[in-house]
Order: sequence, then C-alpha cells, then structure tokens
Amino acid sequence: MEERGMIREEIESLLQEKKQKDLAYGKILSSMCTYPHEIAAYAHKMFLESNLGDPGLFPGTKEMEDEVIRMVGALLGNENAFGYMSTGGTESNIQVIHAIRNRKRREGLSEMNIIVPETAHFSFDKIADILSVEVRKAALDEDLKVGVNSVEELIDDKTICVVGIAGTTEFGQIDPIKELASIANEKNIFLHVDAAFGGFVIPFLDEKYEFDFSLEGVSAISIDPHKMGMSTIPAGCILFREESYLEELAVPTPYLTTKEQCSLIGTRSGASAAATYAVLKYLGREGLKEIVSECMRLTRMLVSGAKGMGISPVIEPVMNVVTLSFPDAEVERVSNALEDKGWRVSVTRVPKALRLVITPHVKEEIVKMFLEDLGGVV
Ligand code: PLP
Repeated sequence: MEERGMIREEIESLLQEKKQKDLAYGKILSSMCTYPHEIAAYAHKMFLESNLGDPGLFPGTKEMEDEVIRMVGALLGNENAFGYMSTGGTESNIQVIHAIRNRKRREGLSEMNIIVPETAHFSFDKIADILSVEVRKAALDEDLKVGVNSVEELIDDKTICVVGIAGTTEFGQIDPIKELASIANEKNIFLHVDAAFGGFVIPFLDEKYEFDFSLEGVSAISIDPHKMGMSTIPAGCILFREESYLEELAVPTPYLTTKEQCSLIGTRSGASAAATYAVLKYLGREGLKEIVSECMRLTRMLVSGAKGMGISPVIEPVMNVVTLSFPDAEVERVSNALEDKGWRVSVTRVPKALRLVITPHVKEEIVKMFLEDLGGVV
C-alpha cells in the first residue's frame, strides 16, 4: 500500500482496467454461475454492510435468511427444513458431513467413512482432508448415475453417510435418489443430496424426478442460489430435515448478539441473503421455471446441432449440461481450438468429453455462433 491514497478518478480507471481483463459471461460455456438477476444486484448493494455472523444487529436481514430457507425448503418438499445460508456448495457439503461426523463421534465412533459417487464434486476431497473421514467412491452405471449395487457393497458398520448427486457437476446427471433413500432408510444411514446445481433446475423440468425431502430417507440437501437461482455470489443453502443436526454444529459465541453459531465461517454476507430473498420473491416458481425452460430449449438446440455434425452427446441431457463425445486425443484439440475462438469450455474426467453448461446468460444467438465455430473446428 502506498503512504498516500489515490484520487477517486484514478481508482475508477484502475478498476476499469482490471474489469476489462475479466471475461464477460457471453462466451463462457464452462461456468455454473451466471449474471445475477438485476433485482438481486439491487438488493445486494442495499445490504452490503449487513453481517449475518452477528444477526442480532441485523434482524431484518436475518428475517430474509429465514424466509429464504423456508422458500427453498418448500421448493424441496419441506418448508420446515432447518438450515442457514452458506457461501455455496462446498461449505454446505462440508457442514453436512461435519454435523453427522460430530454426531457419530459423540456416540463413540472413531473411524468413519462416507460413500459418494465417482462423479462427486471435489468438495468431497476437501471433506476427506478436513474432517478425517474416509471418502469411498462408488462406481457408476452406463448412464453415469451412481450404481446402487456399488453403493451397497461399500457400506459397512463405519459408514455414516451416503451422498447422492442431483445434477452432477460434469454431466448434469441425476443419481437414483429414490433407491438411495430406501437403502438409507433400511440401514438407518444419513443420506445427503448434493443439489448445488440441480436444486433450482430439477423441480422445473418437464420430466419429474424424485430427489428431495419428499423422499423419507433424504436427511439433508445442498442447493446454491448463486448458480441457477440467479442470486449474487456467495449464496448457498444448507438444509437438514432435523434441527438436531444444526445443533451438532453449534459453537458458543460470547460477546456477539446470539449465544451460538452453526456456520463454518464467522462474518458472512447479509447482502447475498438479501439478494436471494429478492430474486426468489421477484421470480416466484413461475419465473424460475421460465428460465429453466429456456435453458433446456437451448440445450436441446445445441445437442441437435452437434448431432447434425455427427457428434454424439455422452448422455442425452437431463439438465442444462451438454457433454459431447470425441476420441480422447481429439477432445483437447477441439477445446483448445474453441478457446482460440474466444469460447470457454471445459473437459470432463471420465469419460473424456467436451462439457458445455447452458446457463441463463447463454442466448440463442450464442448457441448458433458456437455451433458455427464447432463446425469449423471439427
Ligand atoms: N456440488 C456440486 C454438484 C457442484 O456442481 C458444485 C460446483 O460446481 C459444488 C458442489 C461446489 O459449489 P461451490 O463452488 O459453490 O462451493
């Protein structure tokens, strides 16, 4: 830092310079985030200083957080779910496993494992590291859903949680949550559904999937307003069916306005809680459905254009994620050539494929332009 501060105009021009280096979302097809809705940006700015780490000072913001949890719980089949707004899917996943780990440790278990699909987000690798639980990866079936038999084979008397994914990061696939829920019920194991991406998509698809609290065996869900919920970053939600799991996370907070805190982080953004509250109230289920329907229309358009060039999707898209098959060596070349044309795309791990996420900033003209460039590249 310099000894003397700079004048505002200089700062503004520095900021402009940095902003220009950042990419606009327009040609980004690799991101699960998008531009926040205008009403979310408005609310975020209005509550910039609000800190949910000390909610007694910001009771209005706290009311909005509680209402978001109620609205999102209702969307996921349980308006009486218990939870809080996190910084996103990673924190939500960590805290769910943290809660069940604490419960089992109190009950005297020392070694523990959880079972996740091979497609699980890398936040579960962080969980293995931070929480010292073994993370066992269950094999997938040919549709890239977790294999229920593989999950069952991995379960033993040290298994404290099974995780199913409703909207896998790489393929947008939905695991057989209903089957996982009956295993969880039968064996009395905690079932966590990671719906960080899919939670704001699946309820609005034409095809119906059972994946939420309406299934008795589902114990907790992660869902991210900062992905398909059109809110600002950082906005995630962690929801438990039973309040007692939140208590497993509680830490006394002397000198604050509340007696205890369940969140992983201390100071946390009231602004994104306000943004989420505003955008969910503004759009309602109807508005969210319209957004998902448009993303799905463009997803189908992209797949049909690719098929027209002889390129097949790895799976027929279930959600707004498209993965296109290429021979292993070819996929890197295609992805690099597309990047040279200004696109941002990504490549999946196994099987290797070109991955494209059709989030709300992806418009029809963009899909047409992309297909043209893809045609040129292949
Ligand atoms: N879970 C799933 C299924 C995801 O797709 C992601 C991110 O893409 C996460 C968790 C992690 O979310 P975040 O990056 O918001 O922490």
